[in-house]
Amino acid sequence: MKTATRLVHFDPAPKDPYRPMATPIYQTATFEQEHADSFGEYDYSRSGNPTRRVLEDHMAALEGGARGFAFSSGMTAIATVTRLLKAGDEIVADWDLYGGASRLFDSVVRRAGVTVRLVDGTDIDAVRAAVGPATRMLYVESPTNPLLRVLDLRALAAVAKDCGLLFCVDSSAMSPYLQQPLALGADIVIHSGTKLLCGHSDVMAGAVVVKDEALAKEIYFLQNAEGTALGPMDCFLLLRGLKTLKLRIDAQQANAQRIAEHLHLHYPQLEVAYPGLQGDAAYAVQAAQATGAGVLLTFRAGSPAAAKQIAGGLELFKIAVSFGSVNSSISIPYGMSHASVPADQRAARGIPEDLLRISCGIEDADDLIADLTAQIAKL
Ligand SMILES: *Cc1c(COP(=O)(O)O)cnc(C)c1O
Repeated sequence: MKTATRLVHFDPAPKDPYRPMATPIYQTATFEQEHADSFGEYDYSRSGNPTRRVLEDHMAALEGGARGFAFSSGMTAIATVTRLLKAGDEIVADWDLYGGASRLFDSVVRRAGVTVRLVDGTDIDAVRAAVGPATRMLYVESPTNPLLRVLDLRALAAVAKDCGLLFCVDSSAMSPYLQQPLALGADIVIHSGTKLLCGHSDVMAGAVVVKDEALAKEIYFLQNAEGTALGPMDCFLLLRGLKTLKLRIDAQQANAQRIAEHLHLHYPQLEVAYPGLQGDAAYAVQAAQATGAGVLLTFRAGSPAAAKQIAGGLELFKIAVSFGSVNSSISIPYGMSHASVPADQRAARGIPEDLLRISCGIEDADDLIADLTAQIAKL
């Protein structure tokens, strides 16, 4: 079955005698046990909860992994994966990371004695050269955020395999509808469920899906030991969001394509970047490993002041961090989502101060284009 079918075709309530169409919210911390010396399937919600289990199994099936895990945020999902490493180990990561991931790697992970070496993930030889005797993990996002570079996940998986590294892909910008990193050779897929999976800007959530049972055992241990799992109500909301993932992404992505093409054609000075634009550096790699280019695009306003003027003048694009919602939004990554990147890295990474990032919603494309062009005309 195709992903579109699997998104809605799953058992929403295993073993429930009433056969509800929606997953019940098991809003309980603890479960009564028949005996004091032998526990049932569930005993305490930190360790396992039926609502969460449906979501976790659903995510595992959608990503084609052995098991899925739902976390309280994308950040706890990432933090948990980094805990697979121990002091002295090293992560090789692409340098264009989500701001929160940069901060986590630079401070928290480093504090645990794990070093992070940043490389250009589009340069496969450079990635191979960066791997040293202490390297245990290769960590990337694709498309990257905010520069929308696309990394060749199959080629990176081959490097990881040759060098015996765990290959982790943060696929938040794609969702399992557009890209399935495990099938491309990744060991671990990470999602900020807050973004496309939820799609309505009303849940903070994260997900990890792993390739095999050995990794599943370790992630499960960490999720339970640290108490980082997602609550039942939020699991329900994420399950509901997932049912419309295809519809939302189809509509949002079509809007992104229309807007990118319009701006590219009529305002070449804006340097529109979108992996779905033919001629974009990322186009061919994206087309080879994903079924769509996603809902994010960027362009340059010309100056930081112009970027602020455009963002502030728009009516339909709300100024907000995050992306993937049914509502369109706009941000200036330099001062917003990526303000948490350590200052020296932010300069080295070359995130332009006048870069605007748009997340396309499900509004009418003509309305969105009219809103944008009205502000661009005022420059
Ligand atoms: C937002 C985001 C995260 C962090 O997720 P939260 O749910 O905000 O904790 C991680 N990775 C990427 C690519 C993101 O966009």
